[in-house]
Amino acid sequence: MVTVALAGNPNSGKTSIFNALTGARHHVGNWSGVTVERRSGLCLMGSIEVEVVDLPGTYSLAAQSEDERIAARFLSAPEVDVIVNVLDASNLERNLYLTTHLLELRRPMVFALNMVDDAERQGIRIDLKALSTLLGGPVIPTVGNREDGMEELKEAILRVFARQESTVRPITVAYGEDIDRELTKLEREIARDERLVAERAPRWLALQLLDHAPEAEALVEQSHARIAIGNQVEASLAFLEKHLGADGTTLLAERRYGFAHGLMRETVLTTGTGQRTRTDRIDTLLTNRWLGIPIFIAIMVGVYALTFVAGRYPQDWIAAGFAHLHTWVSSHIPQGELASLLVDGVIPGVGAVVVFVPVIMLLMGCIAFLEDTGYMARAAFIMDRLMHVMGLHGKSFIPLIMGTGCNVPAVQATRTIESRTDRFITILVSPLISCSARLQVYIVIAGTFFAPIHAAFAILAMHFLGFGLAMTMGKVLRLTFFRGENAPFVMELPPYRLPVLKSTLIHMWEKGRIFLSRAGTVILAGATLVWFLSHYPGIANRQWTAERQQQEEAVRRQKLSPAEESEKIATVQLAYESRVMNSSLAARFGKILQPFLAPILDPDHTRTEAWKDGVALTAGFVAKEIVVGTLAVVHQAPAEKAGEATAQSPLQETLRRHSGMTPLTALAFMVFTLLYTPCLGTIGMILKETQSWAWALFSIAYGLALGWLVAFLTVHFGRMLKFV
Ligand code: GDP
Ligand code: MG
Repeated sequence: MVTVALAGNPNSGKTSIFNALTGARHHVGNWSGVTVERRSGLCLMGSIEVEVVDLPGTYSLAAQSEDERIAARFLSAPEVDVIVNVLDASNLERNLYLTTHLLELRRPMVFALNMVDDAERQGIRIDLKALSTLLGGPVIPTVGNREDGMEELKEAILRVFARQESTVRPITVAYGEDIDRELTKLEREIARDERLVAERAPRWLALQLLDHAPEAEALVEQSHARIAIGNQVEASLAFLEKHLGADGTTLLAERRYGFAHGLMRETVLTTGTGQRTRTDRIDTLLTNRWLGIPIFIAIMVGVYALTFVAGRYPQDWIAAGFAHLHTWVSSHIPQGELASLLVDGVIPGVGAVVVFVPVIMLLMGCIAFLEDTGYMARAAFIMDRLMHVMGLHGKSFIPLIMGTGCNVPAVQATRTIESRTDRFITILVSPLISCSARLQVYIVIAGTFFAPIHAAFAILAMHFLGFGLAMTMGKVLRLTFFRGENAPFVMELPPYRLPVLKSTLIHMWEKGRIFLSRAGTVILAGATLVWFLSHYPGIANRQWTAERQQQEEAVRRQKLSPAEESEKIATVQLAYESRVMNSSLAARFGKILQPFLAPILDPDHTRTEAWKDGVALTAGFVAKEIVVGTLAVVHQAPAEKAGEATAQSPLQETLRRHSGMTPLTALAFMVFTLLYTPCLGTIGMILKETQSWAWALFSIAYGLALGWLVAFLTVHFGRMLKFV
């Protein structure tokens, strides 16, 4: 016997549909042990006899009332074959809230969109096809009290039962990273008890437990794993309370409303004159077709302005701190390899990254704040259409925005994207977004070779180029490696709320920590490696060291004024370092790379120092901000002098005089730096998130190819346009 359960809100028309399906062939009794009415009846669908059960009307499946407990118990028990979710079309959003609970049962479902006559009268038009796709089951319009749509409903039930319905797809509500993590932990504890797992889906139980549902609590009470499960429930609830500032029930309800609201916004074409909540009213403005994007751009401009203006102060303090450390180490540690490792390798390398921490933290803080208010979900919603054109989804937009700070947290942020292919495409294109580390390279290079206003345009152009290429590559990947696997999903629009400061700070810290830990590990190792490659074998040459010491002695014997003496000593040091550098492994490697880079960085074969670009770019593989430091080392630019405000830094002066770059090759250098490969930290994160060496290596290979190609085109077209 096939069992079909009718579930829905009170007054959605369940009993009318029940009567229409079963005719006179039903009986009424009480549910076992309680006095709530139980109606069930038989119905012939095709040649199959089906038992239809009319359940008490409910708004959720986790509440305390007798009716809801009966519905929850019956629906989650194994004997139900198909659930028919009766939806009141004139109150779709409210009705869809229960649907989020029903979807979690992971049962074959049919959606009876009832009261379509009422809805039509109120001017509500619903996109049935979109609704069916997003709900992952057939949607049948019905008018219960006139028995309209009953044949179609029966056919759909049979198709779903026989697994012949093409629209059926498991749908999940995205609860966000924090809640999902706790759910997974809880599922693991639940899985300790096989009997429990056999009776209920672990995820359903986990959700119910976080929701304080009495049904689930009663079930767990009988389990031998009740203590472990109970402890985990308590730990998870405490964690969520601390991180998100609300109880499990509230948080789950918010996400479910977000699902219902988002689904409604995507499928209801014209809303009637129903009651409008505060969220509705704000959304009419913020997700408006015409105003949505300009508002978003204005908000982001504000965020960046705040980030860079407020971030400057701590950035200066940290830079000053590293400068002091640098001076202290160079005057307290005797000259030699250790001093050189610290002074020329570790301190500048790590310092270059650490100065970015305040800016990254502020940017992540702003994004966390916008996320916690619920606005970021709207940003994804309004960008959705645009992103679809390029083969991406609206949810891919948030990681790309975060990528402007740092690509590493961006790759990690793709976790919110449910569809695996969408997620992989987003992971693979996010390194093309220009991050703040690359900004440093642009500032130095563009500032050297362009007039200030042109430099600003060039830097802006890099950001647009990165974003444009991310979109294009998204489309290319969709058409090649990830063909036709684009599954649509609901974009949750949770209610707006004022973020709790503490939880925003925690989220900011979690996002920024990734960046900080990178500076502590990868960059430290990278800076050491770059130092080694650019100082060996020269630094170990005793004769050179001795010659240098003799020259320094000679200078000191001249008894010059202190200023003159230190200047001459600096010249001696520079000459020595230059000698070491030019004989180093890095120099040899740069020369090997030379033929590969010549077409883009030295098209006329006139630059004798072009190999130094190769060294800097190779070092930039570790982290792009190292490019600047390495340029300074390989070109032997004199150190920055504190308190000396000049239009161009010593490095820029040196580059302008000696590097032989033209504005055009400088632009090609910037383009290549933008694209040529993700930094080591990003590659590590890609590896972690895709669990695949193949994709990690792919991201390097296609970046190199793309970077070379676009830089080559830049030079080529630049020539044609007589831009030198
Ligand atoms: P239940 O609480 O879900 O069992 O809902 P009922 O079946 O008792 O229906 C509630 C009310 O809505 C009754 O007055 C029905 O006649 C009416 N009704 C049911 N289906 C429809 C429909 O499709 N259109 C309209 N206009 N009214 C309906
Ligand atoms: Mg009823």
